[in-house]
Amino acid sequence: RLIAPQAEGRAEEAIDRAIRPKSLADYIGQSAVKEQMDIFLSAAKGRGEPLDHTLIFGPPGLGKTTLASIIANEMGVSLKTTSGPVLDKAGDIAALMTNLEPGDVLFIDEIHRLSPFVEEVLYPAMEDYQLDIMIGEGPAARSIKLDLPPFTLVGATTRAGLLTSPLRDRFGIVQRLEFYNVADLATIVARSAKIMGVDMEEGGAVEVARRSRGTPRIANRLLRRVRDFAEVKGDGIVTQTIADRALDMLNVDVQGFDHLDRRLLLAMIEKFDGGPVGVESLAAAISEERGTIEDVIEPYLIQQGYMMRTPRGRMVTRNAYLHFGLDVKGALSP
Ligand code: ADP
Repeated sequence: RLIAPQAEGRAEEAIDRAIRPKSLADYIGQSAVKEQMDIFLSAAKGRGEPLDHTLIFGPPGLGKTTLASIIANEMGVSLKTTSGPVLDKAGDIAALMTNLEPGDVLFIDEIHRLSPFVEEVLYPAMEDYQLDIMIGEGPAARSIKLDLPPFTLVGATTRAGLLTSPLRDRFGIVQRLEFYNVADLATIVARSAKIMGVDMEEGGAVEVARRSRGTPRIANRLLRRVRDFAEVKGDGIVTQTIADRALDMLNVDVQGFDHLDRRLLLAMIEKFDGGPVGVESLAAAISEERGTIEDVIEPYLIQQGYMMRTPRGRMVTRNAYLHFGLDVKGALSP
């Protein structure tokens, strides 16, 4: 799937680093988030204090990691990055936190996947910059307390509801990222193309933007594939026609849906008569994990009005039937 970050090679990683915005001014779209963060960052800088702990949530590829690194840049401090699943012992997080310099940003991706032991260590660290851990086991075990430098924890998660409430309550700032509109995505694509030295017409940028599922990571990835196509099948210039042909070849349809989106919608229509159907049955029907459906596939389909979550399960809307050119048999309007 286009959204998987692990599919990238080294050259693509270097491009990624070059096009990732480094300041709030370069962070496109998300105007409400930007406006608030601008104020919070200026106020913290003015007081000479670290920024309050910040939780960022939103589907993959919308700019959570980017925002965390912008926070560190704007505060003029370093960023240390880790993720929930790799921290399995209390000692892991303790080692990271004792290495922080005053004011540093500690970024924990997938923070909803922290083990309960690690979460326990995090609470006093977030509240009082105190590290309180047990070392050793059995009768020889003892607890040690250490002072930590003041720091900012930035946590990222796909859905706020996945966090335990004691953890969520310890964040002073909570930001939710939204899917990007076509105009903002086109600006992102044009900016990336410029940095990559790709010759691109405005129509080409808009076509890539329209078919990127509201997601900057997908937009940037499609841009690279469209560039390849333009170099091999055209004269290197990304026009709307070139973008359109390249994206058709990549099986990204005019709505920006990829094969997983189509599989999910078609399974609901063909196997479950449009729903309602439980997410577990749906996961089994398309051989995907429930988490992938909930975090990656359905948020965009729901936002676009192609399916709905009801108390009895997921249902497709009229738009989904129409998208596949099917008869609408008693389907609901979104
Ligand atoms: P997440 O952490 O939410 O999965 P990332 O922060 O890794 O997403 O963003 C994915 C890519 O999209 C980044 O490489 C970055 O270049 C681009 N990107 C994300 N948000 C923006 C934005 N607001 N403006 C421009 N580019 C962005």
